[in-house]
Amino acid sequence: MTVAISQQAEVQQFFEQAAGYRNDDGNPRMKRIVLRVLQDAARLIEELQISDDEFWTAVDYLNRLGGQNEAGLLVAGLGLEHFLDLLHDARDAEAGQVGGTPRTIEGPLYVAGAPLSEGEARLDDGSEDGQATPLFLEGRVLDLDGAPIAGAIVDLWQANTKGNYSYFDQSQSEYNLRRRIVTDTEGRYRARSIVPSGYGCNPQGPTQECLDQLGRHGQRPAHIHFFISAPGYRHLTTQINLSGDQYLWDDFAHATRDGLVGEVVIREGRADMTFDFQLQQAASAGDEQRSGRPRALQVQGA
Ligand code: FE
Repeated sequence: MTVAISQQAEVQQFFEQAAGYRNDDGNPRMKRIVLRVLQDAARLIEELQISDDEFWTAVDYLNRLGGQNEAGLLVAGLGLEHFLDLLHDARDAEAGQVGGTPRTIEGPLYVAGAPLSEGEARLDDGSEDGQATPLFLEGRVLDLDGAPIAGAIVDLWQANTKGNYSYFDQSQSEYNLRRRIVTDTEGRYRARSIVPSGYGCNPQGPTQECLDQLGRHGQRPAHIHFFISAPGYRHLTTQINLSGDQYLWDDFAHATRDGLVGEVVIREGRADMTFDFQLQQAASAGDEQRSGRPRALQVQGA
């Protein structure tokens, strides 16, 4: 029979003490969260009879995961980031805040402060000319009635043909494939770019190590990330996932959703894609802002 002690009063009191419940300092919210983590971890250890070797392997894994800056990748791969989207969708449905372009995960590779331009921009620095397929992307930002939203900011970022992102890939120029475009009076944005490649987790990294244990690959389809924002409208975090990619509906990060597939037309060496976004009205000022998640900010010239 399984020995269980975690529900005993003295063990519960011990965890409360460890979570700071016996002092008036610190952060009450954090104390509550940490207590719950301790309680749930103890139950898990008991019920699944986690061995000491398994426990210390997990501790070592967390060290390596953080050391290689892959915690953001693992939460995407394990579907927790997608779960947050599902939860927000369910809360929105309850509140009647529905319609428009679906949200999907941000991922860990946004960098704030990309160059801002009016109406159109070229995203790539030309360094892959001759190898990359030029991509001409355009569309409009609309409200739920289909009326154009002028002055919306389309903040987009994507990988290059090797599946790498500038800033995280130091071989690329500053803000390569990252731009902010302000929509014109018809709500229109235009971008010249290159067709991105899908990409995978580092095969030697801790995220792939976990996925290997689950019998899963770590590949994503080709995609472009977006933040869309405008005064009076709800901030939208989403992605266009490109049609025709073998991983389109087999995305390790669970980001592809109905309504977020971009139809790419490739002809005579160029690719064209049209994609409109529809925003919900903001119910409060906070609705206009993206989440306060910690993000990279490139220092000019660094
Ligand atoms: Fe990405």
